[in-house]
Amino acid sequence: MSKTVLITGGAGFIGSHLCDRFIEEGYTVYVMDNLITGTLDNIEHLFGHPSFRFYHHDVSNFVHIPGPLDYILHFASPASPIDYLKMPIQTLKVGSLGTHNLLGLAKSKGARILIASTSEVYGDPEVHPQTEEYWGHVNPIGPRGVYDEAKRFQEAMTMAYHTYHGLEVRIVRIFNTYGPKMRLDDGRALPNFMSQALKGEDITIYGDGSQTRSFCYVDDLVEGIYRLLLSDYSNPVNLGNPEEITILDFAKELIALTGSRSKIVYRPLPENDPLRRKPDITRAQEILGWSPVIGRGAGLKKTLSYFEHAVKA
Ligand code: NAD
Ligand code: UDP
Repeated sequence: MSKTVLITGGAGFIGSHLCDRFIEEGYTVYVMDNLITGTLDNIEHLFGHPSFRFYHHDVSNFVHIPGPLDYILHFASPASPIDYLKMPIQTLKVGSLGTHNLLGLAKSKGARILIASTSEVYGDPEVHPQTEEYWGHVNPIGPRGVYDEAKRFQEAMTMAYHTYHGLEVRIVRIFNTYGPKMRLDDGRALPNFMSQALKGEDITIYGDGSQTRSFCYVDDLVEGIYRLLLSDYSNPVNLGNPEEITILDFAKELIALTGSRSKIVYRPLPENDPLRRKPDITRAQEILGWSPVIGRGAGLKKTLSYFEHAVKA
């Protein structure tokens, strides 16, 4: 009998890559998604597969799945700052009520649950690079608070189910991830810069571009998540690529890669935009034997071919 995994948010960017991986590994995969930021295009190729089923449902409402479940991967949530600023209440609800529903489902099925947390739990960090021991620096009532606090609540609730009910839990703190199937208009730096460069439009840098991020290719992330799920480790684990770059240099890299004539223009820095971000991945290296293997050069090339098609479509 194959193992069964429920992936919430499976029609989104990361979720759809997870679907492919778990189907490849021989699992039965259920996706639950309300399509507020995801699209069926990302998982279209799996419809008709005998081990795949799609449930169109908002996980902030009561969740029911018939039959046994071995694993739950809770990835449902708007993830791009533009998306969660447009949908603040849904974002808070899916991180809190949605997480509670899925923890309840996991408990009733005796399933192990992995929740998608984020580097945003560290807020605008005062510790660099960020280790899992760092408690963070978050403005609860700032514009990003709706996402950051939902994810912090999500971690707290998940640990409470672990300590109080003995539920098997895994918590991944994901740092900026990129790759094919990102939505062209999701507002994050990479889709913005790629589509602007490919269309010959101005490249919009927020602030002076000296803020940093560390970008991880999605296949590396999926490998880390797979290993974490099957590990016996219940505390949070950072997954990301520690190669740090300023946003200005990142934009220049994309202009060079696309051979674009786009000009760089400067726009105001959004409130509470973190100034520096880089994961300390010692824990993932020690516990999972995991490190990213796809450098930015190779990862961006693979992503470019996807965006070239998406821009024309
Ligand atoms: P995405 O927007 O592409 O995917 C999110 C998916 O969740 C979408 O398909 C959306 O329709 C679905 N969804 C949202 N609310 C829902 C609800 N209430 N019920 C059912 N489905 C719902 O985002 P992504 O980049 O793939 O992110 C996936 C997860 O990973 C999120 O939880 C996000 O917080 C986390 N994460 C992502 C990154 C990143 O760099 N992409 C970084 C840190 C954390
Ligand atoms: N950014 C930018 N121009 C854009 C989009 C984003 O300069 O068109 C900046 C943004 O202000 C942030 C960084 O790029 O400093 C990464 O933004 P993103 O939305 O990708 O993710 P974040 O890490 O902020 O959640």
